Amino acid sequence: MAGQGGRGWYGRLIAMAVGVAVLAAAPMVWAAQKEPIKGRWGKVAASAPVSVDIAHASDRGAKGVNITIDDGPDPTWTPKVLQVLRENGVKATFCMVGTQAQEYPDLVKQVVAAGHRLCDHTVAHDVTMDKKSEEYQSQQILDAERMITKASGGVTPMYYRAPGGAFTPYSRKLAASRGMRPLGWNVDTKDFERPGVDTIVATVKQEIANGPTLLFHDAGGDRSQTVAALKQILPWLKQQGYTCGFPVR
Ligand SMILES: [Zn+2]
Repeated sequence: MAGQGGRGWYGRLIAMAVGVAVLAAAPMVWAAQKEPIKGRWGKVAASAPVSVDIAHASDRGAKGVNITIDDGPDPTWTPKVLQVLRENGVKATFCMVGTQAQEYPDLVKQVVAAGHRLCDHTVAHDVTMDKKSEEYQSQQILDAERMITKASGGVTPMYYRAPGGAFTPYSRKLAASRGMRPLGWNVDTKDFERPGVDTIVATVKQEIANGPTLLFHDAGGDRSQTVAALKQILPWLKQQGYTCGFPVR
């Protein structure tokens, strides 16, 4: 499983022991998992420290693509995004704002049950986090982690994405120590500016060569363009030989 590379058997044994302890403590979480074995390993990986480097690569290799969906969950748009993902057999990474997760726990559980992964996107979505104190950064990251984990029923975020990409060495280290790999992006679709469906689709086609991690949003306003664009982009990616996966850990 990604995230355990390089730590050897000793690290794996510790990770397994931690995983067993977590499983024993929270049996209800796993009853909700569609793929319990995979889910367990995901949980183990999330419990162990990961690299502090900002991830962009896909766990599906050179032709892998990571669909990342930010700022939700949102009662209007998250279900629509989930439906498009389901129709295309695609798993994505949802970077959730803590207060949104707290307000819509059923949506967080739906995301997890569908096999998608969670990412900590802080409590207040402050894009100037890199100018703030370590105490503030810590509160923003750890409180959101708690909110998302509680809302999901115990499934922890596996990534941390700083709002606006405002990472700091401190925030990356803190997130990694919690098993959350710092997560960047390569293609900013700028869907939040509502540039039109054709423009969002064209941006992906033009910039996919930049790297595999694509940024979309399922909250923060009318996301009908995002939903419509995904309906075109996901089949196109498949036609081009890409496989959608998760960011490396
Ligand atoms: Zn965001």
